[in-house]
Amino acid sequence: MREGSNLIAYRCTRQMACPFFEPRTKLGEGPLDPPPRLPLGQAWGGVCVAPGFSRHEPEESEQRDICNTGYARGRCERFPSNSEADAVRFSAGRDGAIVYILEKDHSPLRFGIVNDQLESPLLEQAKAFSK
Ligand code: SF4
Repeated sequence: MREGSNLIAYRCTRQMACPFFEPRTKLGEGPLDPPPRLPLGQAWGGVCVAPGFSRHEPEESEQRDICNTGYARGRCERFPSNSEADAVRFSAGRDGAIVYILEKDHSPLRFGIVNDQLESPLLEQAKAFSK
């Protein structure tokens, strides 16, 4: 029941990032004025943890345009073709809980409440989203 109400809130957002992106530091606003609203709240720099590219740091432009915005299938050569999800969305619930939703083909795949037991890079994305 509680998760359901948070899922309703999620549907009102358009926030998502690549499920293989591990954010580490804020990138700043960048060249666009005004800066776009980004999935993790602002532009984050980080590394790619896709299989075979572990800890690769993409160019900043790639991070801004693809890693931060998700749906990289067909746009990024590092995105695994067998990936379970295309993107991750986050939403802050009314009770302060943060909900994550893994998406595929623009539909929810699975979701849950963020907690310290989540694996990388989902947990790092949730921390970035909440900052
Ligand atoms: S968009 Fe590509 S480079 Fe960026 S995190 Fe995803 S798979 Fe890695």
